[in-house]
Amino acid sequence: MNRTAAAIKIEQDVLAHNYHPLSVVVERAEGSWITDVDGKRYLDCLAGYSALNFGHGHPALLAAARAQLERATLTSRAFHNDRLGPFAAKLADLCGMHLVLPMNTGAEAVETGIKVARRWAYQVKGVPADDAEIVVAAGNFHGRTTTVVSFSTDQQARTGFGPFTPGFTVVPYDDLDALDAAVGERTAAVLVEPIQGEAGVVVPSDGYLAGIRRICDDRRALFVADEIQSGLGRVGATFACELAGVRPDIYLLGKALGGGVVPVSAVVSSRDVLGLIRPGEHGSTFGGNPLAAAVGSAVVDLLATGKYQAAARRIGDVLHRGLRDLIGHGVTAVRGVGAWAGVDIDPAIGSGRQICDALAERGVLVKDTHGSTIRFAPPLVTTDDEIRWALDRLREVLAVRQSTV
Ligand SMILES: *Cc1c(COP(=O)(O)O)cnc(C)c1O
Repeated sequence: MNRTAAAIKIEQDVLAHNYHPLSVVVERAEGSWITDVDGKRYLDCLAGYSALNFGHGHPALLAAARAQLERATLTSRAFHNDRLGPFAAKLADLCGMHLVLPMNTGAEAVETGIKVARRWAYQVKGVPADDAEIVVAAGNFHGRTTTVVSFSTDQQARTGFGPFTPGFTVVPYDDLDALDAAVGERTAAVLVEPIQGEAGVVVPSDGYLAGIRRICDDRRALFVADEIQSGLGRVGATFACELAGVRPDIYLLGKALGGGVVPVSAVVSSRDVLGLIRPGEHGSTFGGNPLAAAVGSAVVDLLATGKYQAAARRIGDVLHRGLRDLIGHGVTAVRGVGAWAGVDIDPAIGSGRQICDALAERGVLVKDTHGSTIRFAPPLVTTDDEIRWALDRLREVLAVRQSTV
């Protein structure tokens, strides 16, 4: 048995089976490249679902983490720490907002956003107690907690986990008429992903996000943008909302905010909204810890250069041109913006999973979603030649499978 098989066997014996990973056991990673326990190298074209936008082991992020490890790592919010204030100031500035509420995981940022929106509805909009509604979109992915799966439309994520949290209305994604009909006097917020990642990198029509902004302004509801996956460089801008020329009331951030080093998430908003939360009403032991704040600060510094947003545009040009050329050659559709693509595989030649397995054999790591879609989200340090190399591997895999059906 090789080391890969042995390591997978150990995991299978002791781990809850809540994931079905590809048969790759990572030992080391640097930049866009992963080395497995048997010494095989892979180009990482998933980047931890955009948690690794700056690549594995980015020198500036590791330096920030190492320096902070020697100083202080955890204080809890019972005390102040000298890293959190500067991080929050930089992050608020990056977002063009005033206040930051730091948490750890994306799901916690979403939960926090929901609480903040409800608080605003009761205290500012005047919604009767416990009557606030949040309008969400079908096909959403906002995390895995019980409240968040309460408004998922993915049966696998929900079935068997009720009873569910009330107070959510689901409307079709990219449908302003449906949204217009759903937002009313009891609506605290509209919560959407500006681009739906888990759904298969679904990009809404031009005008959709601007339409949400208009409806929220007309009806006095908050526009909450879950940019946990779309934000922080992936789409070729700092935020997907920015591409649409729209400013939400609340940004939910996570994934890349921790630079692939530690979990860091945040809710970022105005003083009028986030200022409504008072001591004792919300928090997290680890949220805003000095190690997270030091790494998060270094992440914001990287984004402030604009270099990674530009890299996402460059990668996107090569990636999308190459993927579009495969339409009709085993690919039925390609979606996405910047360094982010959802690729629908012709079901006649195989499942998304089978394509991922075949790509892994050839040294390219991507992940399938919803049966026949594969998702590309390479680190933003990937070169054009590396992207072309990955596209060549995909072309080979599709050709081999097409010739055998
Ligand atoms: C990943 C993700 C989340 C959940 O983040 P976790 O850190 O896994 O809890 C929420 N929203 C979106 C859009 C995501 O992509």
